[in-house]
Amino acid sequence: MGHLFHPDQRSYDLKLEVCSTAFHYVMEELQKAPHLASSWIRVERIYTERELSSAPLLVLRLTNQAIEDDWYDLEDGYQGGPQASHRRCAVCRAALEQVRDLLVDVRKMGRRDLSLTYSFEVILSPRLARMLQEAGFTGFALRPVWHYRRPHQGEPPLYQLVVTNVLPPMASPPTEFEPERRCEVCGTETKFIKHTHWWGRIPYYEETEIYYPKSVLEQVADFNATWEKIGELPSWSRLVIITQRMYRWLKEQRIRGWSAEPVYLVE
Ligand SMILES: [Zn+2]
Repeated sequence: MGHLFHPDQRSYDLKLEVCSTAFHYVMEELQKAPHLASSWIRVERIYTERELSSAPLLVLRLTNQAIEDDWYDLEDGYQGGPQASHRRCAVCRAALEQVRDLLVDVRKMGRRDLSLTYSFEVILSPRLARMLQEAGFTGFALRPVWHYRRPHQGEPPLYQLVVTNVLPPMASPPTEFEPERRCEVCGTETKFIKHTHWWGRIPYYEETEIYYPKSVLEQVADFNATWEKIGELPSWSRLVIITQRMYRWLKEQRIRGWSAEPVYLVE
């Protein structure tokens, strides 16, 4: 347990084990005064290596978001101007289709092999892009990413990982979702995996598991995108699901900047 007082915020950060007496005590005490509870009570799961190394499929989470968005999209404020990277719905602004290579400030990538843009596009170093191709992994394409001041000159300085193998919908139930958002004009539907829970009168955030029917294994590639569009309208993205083979390879190659969570299979 650690705690830290933030004088400016007049609050404490508390890290407690969910099974501990201290956690139960704090949550019970807060029932008496729910207005004192932070809206950011988060329960984080820590997976054991055994859980991770036995899961046939895993969600790939990138742990850094070093790259700002596409240069012209930033300038445009996502209004879908003539130079925008994506064609967008005129009403909700959801991205409908990527229409050109991304143009970013490639210096933000530094020496990383793997990062995200603010819009959750997965960006690879040329080194990692080449390694993935040479290892013969499936389910993805590489799209050049250019420095915004020198587009289309020489070898691409970075690559975008475009996951091409889209899985069928998750098994739901048992997968649960938060209420969905839907644009009546373009038909885009987005949602979050369920994460809001209640301890009596106190809300807290805990991500819930993702389940697929076992039959999904017949159609998985090493990289897969969820059929579900996750997030808000307009800024949604698909989750990336990887195989156990891919998980082990990323670890063996000591690629950094990611973590993984197991996906569960049901009959
Ligand atoms: Zn729309």
